[in-house]
Amino acid sequence: MIDLHTHSTVSDGTETPTELLATAAGAGVTVLALTDHDTTGGWAEATAARPSGMTLVRGAEFSTVSPDGRGGEVTAHLLGYLFDPEDPAIVAEQERVRASRRDRVRAMGERMAAGGLPVDGEALLARLPADSPAGRPHIGQALVAAGVVESVSEAFAGPLRKDGPYYVEKYNTPMATAIAMIRAAGGVAVFAHPFARKKGPIVESSVILDLAAAGLDGIEIDHPDHGPEDRATLGALAAETGLIVTGSSDYHGTNKTNTPIAGETTAPAEFEKIIERAKGVEVLADRRPPAT
Ligand code: AMP
Ligand code: ZN
Ligand code: FE
Ligand code: FE
Repeated sequence: MIDLHTHSTVSDGTETPTELLATAAGAGVTVLALTDHDTTGGWAEATAARPSGMTLVRGAEFSTVSPDGRGGEVTAHLLGYLFDPEDPAIVAEQERVRASRRDRVRAMGERMAAGGLPVDGEALLARLPADSPAGRPHIGQALVAAGVVESVSEAFAGPLRKDGPYYVEKYNTPMATAIAMIRAAGGVAVFAHPFARKKGPIVESSVILDLAAAGLDGIEIDHPDHGPEDRATLGALAAETGLIVTGSSDYHGTNKTNTPIAGETTAPAEFEKIIERAKGVEVLADRRPPAT
């Protein structure tokens, strides 16, 4: 089973990279991608923890902003696989996004405190690494700890809502820039959950056609936030454009409980296309025993 989109405690998952790989192995995952938000900070630990028999794809989920195809813009996520983690443009851009994420935790914390919710953004950040890509799930955990809500999911349906009074936007990389950056660093760029409507407004199909022409490698179709009709629409777009098609759980441990690891998976032939295109870093797998 191939799961190409998961998060660890290095971003907003609840399992360390080591624990995540153990969970994946226990669930029968044979190929796992670690795709923390806006960081490659978990790559080294995941590499060290890779159990024999498991293939590890080093990746990240980039925060982007895309044209929506209606004259406006929407935030969107882009998965980058097997890019050079030392590429200067990627290093600088990920640092910029992470700093903006932390500023936003402070700003949302201030709004919540002003509104009577017991959240201290600064205190929350002090418990995370200095370069953390802190996110709304961390605020959600603070709201759970304070007894305001019972779960992070409940927090997302309430105080963390995008259209709610406490929401603050962060800096996001323009989608076309992010695609070009990943490819220039030898990586493969896949549009994450393009039709995840419950996360907010989504792009028109025309945008996916434009991005495919501009160098996008693939789209994530089988994702817990996609219903059957959206999967069909995206499948037709992939057939029309030749985009690679992926599927993945977007596992976040107990921060997001809608799908278990490998609850959605990628077809082996599609995974092979990613491997063929990648030139940044190698996929990590066991060497075949020498022929005797
Ligand atoms: P942020 O990136 O800080 O805007 O927070 C959004 C992230 O929270 C996304 O990666 C989501 O996958 C994650 N998340 C975790 N739990 C939930 C939830 N219950 N509802 C929506 N998003 C969630
Ligand atoms: Zn997340
Ligand atoms: Fe995402
Ligand atoms: Fe994700």
